[in-house]
Amino acid sequence: MEVRYKSTRSDIEVSASQAVLQGLSRDGGLFVPTAIPALTEPMEELADMSYQELAYVVMSKFLSDYTEEELKACIAGAYDSKFDTPAIAPLVKKDGVYYLELFHGATIAFKDMALSILPHLMTTAAKKNNVKGKIVILTATSGDTGKAAMAGFADVPGTEIIVFYPKDGVSHIQERQMVTQRGANTHVVAIKGNFDDAQSAVKRMFNDPALNEEVHAAGYQFSSANSINIGRLVPQIVYYVYAYAQLVKSGEIKAGEKINITVPTGNFGNILAAYYAKQMGLPVGKLICASNENKVLTDFFATGEYNKNREFILTSSPSMDILISSNLERLIYRICGDNAAECRKLMESLAAKGVYRITPEMKERLDDFRGGFATEKENFAGIKALYEKTGYVIDTHTGVANAVYRAYAKKTGDKTKTVIASTASPYKFAAAVIGAIAPDKVAGKSDFELIDELHRISGVAEPPAITDIRTAPVRHNTVCAVDEMPDTVRKILGVQ
Ligand SMILES: *Cc1c(COP(=O)(O)O)cnc(C)c1O
Repeated sequence: MEVRYKSTRSDIEVSASQAVLQGLSRDGGLFVPTAIPALTEPMEELADMSYQELAYVVMSKFLSDYTEEELKACIAGAYDSKFDTPAIAPLVKKDGVYYLELFHGATIAFKDMALSILPHLMTTAAKKNNVKGKIVILTATSGDTGKAAMAGFADVPGTEIIVFYPKDGVSHIQERQMVTQRGANTHVVAIKGNFDDAQSAVKRMFNDPALNEEVHAAGYQFSSANSINIGRLVPQIVYYVYAYAQLVKSGEIKAGEKINITVPTGNFGNILAAYYAKQMGLPVGKLICASNENKVLTDFFATGEYNKNREFILTSSPSMDILISSNLERLIYRICGDNAAECRKLMESLAAKGVYRITPEMKERLDDFRGGFATEKENFAGIKALYEKTGYVIDTHTGVANAVYRAYAKKTGDKTKTVIASTASPYKFAAAVIGAIAPDKVAGKSDFELIDELHRISGVAEPPAITDIRTAPVRHNTVCAVDEMPDTVRKILGVQ
């Protein structure tokens, strides 16, 4: 069966490799598979596969126009010794719940699961579609995505990557991670503005015909690595199938038994991948969508109204501080019966008024999902309780999912075995994690002293990603104003 990709907002339809290259459809919609392929292989067979073998089984069903040889080369180039465990995504049972650790890659956050393979999928797609120029990835980041994208694209032939971050809008650790990035094709620029300024300016560059023409004439073509690219979504389906297969293999569940999945959610990409896994036939009961105090999704699942007109709250789980969950559009498309015109109308309402409401029939189709949110206090209390009971330390994003799941289980009495997507190493958010477990130990300590403290209490070895930035030399120091961003790009590319 050939799976193609169509826009959520019109009849535009493209191949898988074209969808990877384009990222966003020209009509502003997102690409969705024309059909969700079925998982037909016996679970016992999948359970005996390595992560890489299973990745091929799942991804080959979605990426129809990649050959076996191409896709296997992409997978081999992505899931290798950049990960600190051959399991790639280990499953750890603590206090009755299975934590699916998605942070064993180069930048110790789950973005590595997709961004380590996206460069390979993209350069392969460029070859298949006879794209002659070099691909230039432009990315605005609030911290995690930029670093993970650079780690993925560093020294990948045929690519350059330029990352813009708000000078005073990222944590000290995140900034050090970025400015020490290696790779001759990586470029990091601090901008004098906030994340929204950076993001809007990047969007303007994508849509600036004159700039695009100039870079094109010089042999370049812009592309995007953000989470609406199907080249990021498809690799994320793999680890849910893998987690299920591992549970069968270890005898924790019987093949066919339903599990629940809880995901700490921001842009709705990770949980959408779990939904696609369920649609493929993976035995999944509820998908529990966990939010922090920016609980626009919790309210949506409860009422059917999506309303972003509210205060933006800065929390200790910054990668989930989002009021427009872009990937939700793909779910909306599905629950309105794959009706692009209807989906477009709702998204236009969101853009114009910041709000839309779905019909009762659409809401009925959301029964796979449960929404919930955790306050900062609930999150910290859950991190502390889990640590005191088991010695296991989770980060503040995973902490949100942990608190939401445990409240859900208590309230509903649902005893279904549950996998929680664990999206970052606690080392990445050491100050907040120590603040939750031992608040008296935080005052007056530097970032690296807090990391030492985390090592003492968790007993988990410090990841190389942290050790590296203690001593790595600063390689990037460009700072520019927002309106200088296009000229900065010209200068980096030597287009003047
Ligand atoms: C990006 C991110 C999330 C949110 O994932 P979405 O796919 O955007 O919902 C959660 N936790 C961490 C640590 C992240 O970096």
